Amino acid sequence: MTDNSPLIDSLGRVHTNLRISVTDRCNIRCFYCMPDENVRFLPRRDILSFEEIERFARVSARLGVNKLRLTGGEPLVRAELHKLVARLAAIEGIHDIALTTNGILLAEQAQALKDAGLLRINISLDALTEETFRHIARRDGLDRVLAGIHAAKRVGFQRIRLNAVAIKGVTEPEVVPLANFAREHGMEMRFIEFMPLDAENHWQHDQVLTGEEIRRQLEDAIGPLEPAERPDPSQPATDFRFSDGGGTIGFINPVTQPFCEDCNRLRLTAEGKVRNCLFSTVEWDARAVLRGGGSDDDLIDLLRTCIRAKKPGHGIDSSDFVKPERAMYQIGG
Ligand code: SAM
Repeated sequence: MTDNSPLIDSLGRVHTNLRISVTDRCNIRCFYCMPDENVRFLPRRDILSFEEIERFARVSARLGVNKLRLTGGEPLVRAELHKLVARLAAIEGIHDIALTTNGILLAEQAQALKDAGLLRINISLDALTEETFRHIARRDGLDRVLAGIHAAKRVGFQRIRLNAVAIKGVTEPEVVPLANFAREHGMEMRFIEFMPLDAENHWQHDQVLTGEEIRRQLEDAIGPLEPAERPDPSQPATDFRFSDGGGTIGFINPVTQPFCEDCNRLRLTAEGKVRNCLFSTVEWDARAVLRGGGSDDDLIDLLRTCIRAKKPGHGIDSSDFVKPERAMYQIGG
């Protein structure tokens, strides 16, 4: 008989959260993630179809996965993404579907995504000045991102988070304007420490603008921050609230304050590889099972093997850290 027990690893971490990359393609070229030119994207035939993604998610849900996040590359460049959302929303046991997007195509798609059952959106916004946006993204598009943010609000998404990667020497002047923007619009701002997942291998430890530095900057410029409650211990962010009641700031500090001990996430890449960590150097090939006539039990075996092999932590700061060969856009952030 099939064992439908939860996906628990050797440290007792229960995996309920699946991040699904729907494409490695993107319409901008952020230097912390992708190469600028001559990107070799996966051929279309290598990318999982909506049916294959749905089947994988359905099997995962049988093992207790209840939260899904769609990501990429840029998920909104995948045609008719709302149809995938609708399929996933219909899976028994899935009660949360979220999306991480750069927002460029969001104005056109927000309504269809909402109608399909998408519940939450994280929009990446590293800068509010066109110059810094272009320096990071190596493309134009800030006005479209802002239009996407406003559209998400207009169609009624309740919890909109803005995510900014924080990079020393680049984004310090953006920190306070971003926090004020989020406060004004009733959105949560999250700052993410720059991780060694860039495609061009330029990451240096001293480029990490730490959550602690940002917190000090915000308190000096705006006012005191106090720790907010932590409803979900597995959430990557540590949240703070402005004492004046004007909004929440989250800090995702994977470099200076790793949160691996509470990690409940697994990942499916666009071409169907399963990973137990962003920084894993090993992957399990679900596409081979999906396309090779494998059964649901075969997928369950693969999932259990992957979770059993999960390491205690990503080890960014350890001397034997090995940077994954794949960059963020190839894994799914
Ligand atoms: N294209 C979508 C977007 O921009 O949100 C989804 C994919 S993107 C890889 C997901 C998130 O990962 C974004 O918030 C992005 O800023 C973040 N990210 C990418 N590379 C990163 C890195 N090296 N360190 C920290 N965050 C990174």
